Amino acid sequence: MPPARLSIAMVSLHSGPLGPLGARRTGGLSVCLRELSRALGRAGHRVDLFAPAAGGAGGEASIPLADNVRLLPVAPGVPARPLEIHRQAEGVWETIERLRRRLGTGYDLVHSHYWASGRAAELACRAWGAPHVATFHTLAAGKRRLREDRAELLVRLAAERRLARICEALTVPSPRERDLLTTFCRAAAPRTAVVPWGVDLERFRPLPRRESRARLGIPEEAEVVLYVGRLAPEKGLKRLLAALARLGDRAPLRLIVVGGDGAGDPRRRLLAAWAEARGLGGRVAFRGRVEPEALPLFYSAADLLALPSSYESFGLVILEALACGTPVAATPVGAAETLLRGGRRGRLAAGFAPDDLAAAIAALLDTHLPSPLMAAALRRSVAGFGWPQAAEGMLAVYRAVLSGQEAARGLEAGESACCGCGRGRGRK
Ligand code: UDP
Repeated sequence: MPPARLSIAMVSLHSGPLGPLGARRTGGLSVCLRELSRALGRAGHRVDLFAPAAGGAGGEASIPLADNVRLLPVAPGVPARPLEIHRQAEGVWETIERLRRRLGTGYDLVHSHYWASGRAAELACRAWGAPHVATFHTLAAGKRRLREDRAELLVRLAAERRLARICEALTVPSPRERDLLTTFCRAAAPRTAVVPWGVDLERFRPLPRRESRARLGIPEEAEVVLYVGRLAPEKGLKRLLAALARLGDRAPLRLIVVGGDGAGDPRRRLLAAWAEARGLGGRVAFRGRVEPEALPLFYSAADLLALPSSYESFGLVILEALACGTPVAATPVGAAETLLRGGRRGRLAAGFAPDDLAAAIAALLDTHLPSPLMAAALRRSVAGFGWPQAAEGMLAVYRAVLSGQEAARGLEAGESACCGCGRGRGRK
């Protein structure tokens, strides 16, 4: 029987829970680490998070993050680049062990995040006699069509395959990701559990549309498409701009882009020039990074959120928009497929062509009638996706592993756990 209160070592060596969200290196993974750890802490479990601290800080033995949750800053001693973290796993593990010894703690289980953390976490598990649960967040197999360093992708694929073989359990946030994991990494289905991520339902809630628009300086009559996220190529902003260019006859249509590293960000300048060249200059506003507290204002002011990504393992912004009562138009990636199926929460593009996305956006704009009632219904549809439920799903996996059961079976037995279909969590 696993103990009632678990002691969990989270290992995320590439990206930490702190730092400015929406910038190049900090996005969904940081949110997941922070919120999952917090929810586990609130449920009475002890979480030590071995991860970089914001701004490369180090030296402190631990930084309290929430009740029962501490950040153990791994820098200095851990390289910044994933490939180097992987290659220097022995040294990285020694840094982890030094931190653990300083605090004199032990762990029931290690949960590693992202492929680069896997090898060092594996060494920790071996030394501590603890089982290993891994969450890759994204997979080399999902990135294979993107323009990424091929040599690194091959190392990554091999590392993910190895971890898929040796870890006691793997968690993925969407059924699409499970299919990638079982097909390309040959992960055993019984050890692979779908545990969807969550949304902070306190923070993300509908605000009055008219006031939100007034505060952002958006005319009432405008049709507003919102994008929220990093400006990385795989996030598909070019695809979204191309789709927008095809909707040129919708005169008041405009796009608000939230995220990026500021006005000097070369990616932002490139995208702005690209929009300008297609005659979209006056219709696209780059607002830069926005703190999470201010995001409900943007979601509430928009007619829809567009998620144009080429690859996404989940897509937290989908849940955030819906929690704020705003529907979503998305490419068929991550959780969009399951969350948007049926058309009640938004529209799923038929494919990745800009025409497909344009059609989904137009269909949603033509059929969605924004109103407080509609916003409340959309919010209700994700009521089962709070972080406490996400933590419960993860705990079901931890407990299954600690009792020597197969994680997928343990997950099915868990009351609130769900395959991501939306049926088991909240109402559709
Ligand atoms: N985000 C933010 N401010 C920004 C841009 C993004 O707080 O200016 C947050 C966003 O709300 C979401 C996360 O960053 O919680 C991005 O997560 P997602 O899963 O959508 O994308 P990823 O970064 O994992 O590709």
